[in-house]
Amino acid sequence: MNSNLPLEKEAGGSELHPSDNEVSASQQHGTVPSQLANAEPLQHGAMATYALVDGEASIISANPEFSRLLDIDAECSQLSFLEKLEQRYPENANELASALSDTNSSTIELQITSNEHCRLNIAAIDSDRRLVVLEPIKSGHSEIEHVKLSLIDPLTQLGNRRQLDIFLESWQSADGKQVAALMLMDLDRFKIVNDTLGHGIGDTLLKVVAQRARRAIRDDDLIVRLGGDEFVIVHTNKDQSSGSVEKVAKRLVEMISRPFLVDGHQIGIGTSVGIAVLGDETKNVADLMRHADLALYESKSKGRGTYSFFEQTMEQNALRRRDLETSLRRAIGLKQFSLVYQPQVQLSQGVVTGFEALIRWNHETLGLISPMDFIPLAEETGQIVSIGEWVLNTACKEAVKWPEHLNVAVNVSPVQFESESFVNSIQDALTISGLQPNRLEIEITESVLINNPEAVFKQLEKIKEMGVSIAMDDFGTGYSSLSNLSNFPLSKIKIDQSFVRGEQTEKSRALVNAIIALGVNLGMDTLAEGVETQDQYMQLANDGCKAAQGYLISKPLQAASIEKFISDQSFNSVKIDP
Ligand code: C2E
Ligand code: MG
Ligand code: MG
Repeated sequence: MNSNLPLEKEAGGSELHPSDNEVSASQQHGTVPSQLANAEPLQHGAMATYALVDGEASIISANPEFSRLLDIDAECSQLSFLEKLEQRYPENANELASALSDTNSSTIELQITSNEHCRLNIAAIDSDRRLVVLEPIKSGHSEIEHVKLSLIDPLTQLGNRRQLDIFLESWQSADGKQVAALMLMDLDRFKIVNDTLGHGIGDTLLKVVAQRARRAIRDDDLIVRLGGDEFVIVHTNKDQSSGSVEKVAKRLVEMISRPFLVDGHQIGIGTSVGIAVLGDETKNVADLMRHADLALYESKSKGRGTYSFFEQTMEQNALRRRDLETSLRRAIGLKQFSLVYQPQVQLSQGVVTGFEALIRWNHETLGLISPMDFIPLAEETGQIVSIGEWVLNTACKEAVKWPEHLNVAVNVSPVQFESESFVNSIQDALTISGLQPNRLEIEITESVLINNPEAVFKQLEKIKEMGVSIAMDDFGTGYSSLSNLSNFPLSKIKIDQSFVRGEQTEKSRALVNAIIALGVNLGMDTLAEGVETQDQYMQLANDGCKAAQGYLISKPLQAASIEKFISDQSFNSVKIDP
């Protein structure tokens, strides 16, 4: 059942991007020695003993422990770091000189005292800067343990969080003249790949993404994997051209959006990028990561697959979000939620068959907040589970008061399916209210079927067995494939209002007709959302659409107005002419 987009299994097939598996010598800049490939990551924030060295082998910055352990004076002296090392360790002079000038990374062992050794791991950060990390060797430990220096991510061979921390720390203490930017990159839909194709393929995908990302950026840029599907790129803009950050971001987004072929599976993911540029908005290195994170949030809320630069307003928005989150937590207790009900009519007769329950939040100071603004937040924080239960209970209690031929439709978020008690909460709402199961319909969206389809299928089957019907909401806007529609126990397809509302184009009409035909073939009813004009209503009826909902019939109504609406039957004015 994992044939859902964005994943499609390829029969055999050759690599779409054969070079994904190759990293050229020049691309090795910014990574650490390959002999450290099996290194185990140290704890984030562990004390590092390091120095950042420039092209003339002079120290840009070093921590005091570094000089103390090596027994050299790293500060103010006419001698370069290399010269000091050569004086102190004459037997290693040649080795040190070549390691510090080489763009490949290397490791050198030094004897500090008669019974103490240390290892210098020299990593090329870019064409003329080296990160030198010192690691004391304790006697009695195996060679391989000594090499577990962990500046790299063992999976992707990129740098890891520790390398980033050291880089930013040393960079902060350097003169900071370079214009620089930090890009936080998060893969879109990676979780779906992991959940549907397994962690093995997920890991391989991460490796190939890492190689492709490496190619998208400049040789001088540092790239690390923070963990999971999060990567950071530090872009040092030596030529000071302001557009270069944007160029890199654009290329990253574009290259990651191209399909990947992993073990015969063609995988379409994408990436969202948040960028903080050191300068007016982001004054110091310490803020780079936080600001890039806020910009990443912006990219995700813009619909993913894009990049955003940090702006001050994002910080204010994040604060507002946090406030909203706090008020959302109290909203049920404070009875700030209510439901309104929008009628659904059968097109051929113009009779009302039921109502869709739509939530409203009346905030104490902000007034009415649209579900479009708070449902995503409630989903992010998991509060949708208790809000969803409240909606189910309230809608069922309300519907039981209506004439028996009228049904109620309740929107359900994909996050609710992640809760083990979801099916039980539907049963509870029916039991408590006494509503007949066949009068309840739940509306799901296509994304529900993509995340963990096997588990969702089982839940939907149970819901259907109870006698509750299931409608696919906003159809045509998501990723679901035809096989999804036919495999899942759905009884209704709701055609998204974007194809119905406004001016009808040839394309939107063709789409609507295709969905109606699909409904007929699969034995499912079709309901058009967003019907606003008589013309749209007539057209849909003539095209064979079963039902409609929209402002033409009625805007959503307060519970108290339903009785009057039913008795008025004012919607009969839109009945089609015989
Ligand atoms: P939806 O389920 O597709 O609901 C239809 C939305 O379209 C409603 O917006 C409705 O007021 C609006 N609408 C209906 N007819 C027309 C029309 O003719 N023209 C226009 N322009 N709009 C029309 P609303 O109430 O703002 O809800 C927005 C979305 O929020 C809903 O879309 C649904 O996805 C979500 N939502 C609402 N209530 C709940 C809830 O209780 N739980 C969950 N999880 N989501 C909810
Ligand atoms: Mg709906
Ligand atoms: Mg809808």
